[in-house]
Amino acid sequence: MLGKILVISGPSGSGKTTLISRLLEEEKNIFFSISSTTRELRYGEKNGVNYYYISEEEFKKSIENNEFLEWAIVHKNYYGTLLKPINEALESGKIVIFDIDVQGFNLIKDKFKDIITSVFITTPNQNELKKRLIKRGLDEAQIIKRRLMNAITEMSHIKEYDYFLINDDFKKTYKALKAIFRSINYKTSDLDLRKIIDNWID
Ligand code: 5GP
Repeated sequence: MLGKILVISGPSGSGKTTLISRLLEEEKNIFFSISSTTRELRYGEKNGVNYYYISEEEFKKSIENNEFLEWAIVHKNYYGTLLKPINEALESGKIVIFDIDVQGFNLIKDKFKDIITSVFITTPNQNELKKRLIKRGLDEAQIIKRRLMNAITEMSHIKEYDYFLINDDFKKTYKALKAIFRSINYKTSDLDLRKIIDNWID
């Protein structure tokens, strides 16, 4: 059976990465889509784990060769999802997790409409996001400013997602995300009704 997709979007600093890591530790049959990016590797990140860190030249070559399922420019850097690993994971029936921005989600949502579930995660307020970005100490003041502005734009797209989570408490938010993840297997949208009824009659 073809796999499913869980898209998780939201401002960087909303806690998406930590939530996804926990899901990857605890849940089965799951595949995290490692994006390619031209952004600098941050302290604590690893090439091939968080992202594939590539040059702008390499990124543009991959665009020309149609290697990306989707790509976008976020905070002045290129980010993109490679098509091949996603196809393989879907063909093997995995639930594929995408941590992508609103632009990326809009580029794929129609193509995968029967198998996609989407969640938007954010902080309780803008000030909390600012505090988290400063505390994390990974970005310069100018970049933080850019990320905060971008967060407002992203928030205007919340209604395009199936679910909305405010990450004010990790445990609570994780519990909600896990419930959403588990519900994916019970969705009706991609069911083969004829097959179900035939089997049911037999
Ligand atoms: P960060 O630099 O904080 O890791 O990510 C910045 C933003 O880029 C986040 O909102 C993240 O979801 C988004 N992003 C990461 N990978 C991709 C991707 O492959 N495609 C798109 N469209 N956005 C991505």
